[in-house]
Amino acid sequence: MSKNLRLHRAGDGPGGITPRAVKLFEKMRRLPCVCKPRDWGQDQYYKWPGPCFHCKERGRLKYEIHRELRLYPWETAVEDPEADSPYPVGSWAYENDEPNLEAQARWRALEQAAREMRRARRAAKAAANSPSDVA
Ligand SMILES: [Zn+2]
Repeated sequence: MSKNLRLHRAGDGPGGITPRAVKLFEKMRRLPCVCKPRDWGQDQYYKWPGPCFHCKERGRLKYEIHRELRLYPWETAVEDPEADSPYPVGSWAYENDEPNLEAQARWRALEQAAREMRRARRAAKAAANSPSDVA
């Protein structure tokens, strides 16, 4: 059963990473969060205006990555391994927030692939600019 599940993965890299997924991931990472701070107090939470436009766009890009990697509907595309729980410290949700190890592994695989693609681009540029190619 689990053997068949893997057949649906896109790409050949670790975790089925594709170049388009890497591009979407890099685009996503360039969007800093500018959300207004949340007041988790009762009745205060509902006054929060909602996620900022960068977070909304990041959500859309995560959805694109999900589609690109042909993940199952119940899977999370990526999770930042460095990110802390969004819930207030001491709350039940904070204490019980479990890391999504698979989504974090995908984040790291995309990070790694992005580094390799940047390196390859730099090498190609350097080769194009080298004097030996001019003559
Ligand atoms: Zn935000």
